[in-house]
Parts: sequence; structure tokens; C-alpha cells
Amino acid sequence: MVLDKPFLPCYNDNMIISGKINSIMRQALEYYARRLFTHQLSRHIEVKVTQRKHMPEFHGLCGIEDYNVLGQPRYFEIEIRAGDTLEEKLITLAHELCHVRQYCRNELNEQGNKWYERRIDVDNVPWNELPWEIEANELGYQLYKEFTECHKKK
Ligand SMILES: [Zn+2]
Repeated sequence: MVLDKPFLPCYNDNMIISGKINSIMRQALEYYARRLFTHQLSRHIEVKVTQRKHMPEFHGLCGIEDYNVLGQPRYFEIEIRAGDTLEEKLITLAHELCHVRQYCRNELNEQGNKWYERRIDVDNVPWNELPWEIEANELGYQLYKEFTECHKKK
């Protein structure tokens, strides 16, 4: 695998994934997790994926479901639109897992209005200009491209 921007290392993965997803989606999530989380962090993250039939506004959502004993978010639900194509779903999963990382690393606060401790006026910033969305869009799409490149070569 050749990466043009190898700014993230590739870790072992032990993230727990549940939900009704096909094997390509699972492989993609495992790949993304290896690229986004240290092994240490991965072992403590659980992600449940739910495919929703009615999701008119978004392709995906990421919500915190529960916390570890230290009160850090570690259990997440990722919701994706059931009617999307596989390609769209793989892009959405990468995007949402970037949000999981942002929550785990406390870069984005739980209320979704602080980025690296800086308050963001979410009502007056367009969705795609929010810093966590910019990162999730860019990084997520890069991970998706990487995964599809890897997948083709197998
Ligand atoms: Zn997002």
C-alpha cells in the first residue's frame, strides 16, 4: 500500500463493532479504526452501527452512548442511511468514525459546540464550515480512498 499522505500510522485494531453491516463495511470500519486510533484506545472503543430507513437530513450521525469509569466517551452509535449506495455508506462510516475519534480525544465536546476548548457559534456557521466537519470530511474521504485502493489490490 502506498500512501501519498502518510500522516497517520497504522495500528492493530481491537475496536468492537456491532450492528447489521456487510463484510465490506466491517472491513472498512476495521481499516479506518486502525488508521485513527492507537491500539490502546481501540481496545476501549465500542461502535454500534444502525442502518436507518428514515434519515432525510443526513447521510450519517454519530452519537455518544456511554462512558468509561473515568467519564470519557467510549461507546458510540453510528447511524447511516439504509438507502444509500455502498460507496456512500463507506464514505459516511469513515466520516462518522472521525467524529468518534474527536469525541474520544476530547477535541470536540459532547454538546458539539467546542473545538479544542474554543467555543464555536454553531448557529451561525454553515455545517460544512464547522471545524470538526471539515476534518471529518477531509480525513474521512482520504481514509475511504485508501481503503478502496487497498481493497482493489487484494
Ligand atoms: Zn459530520
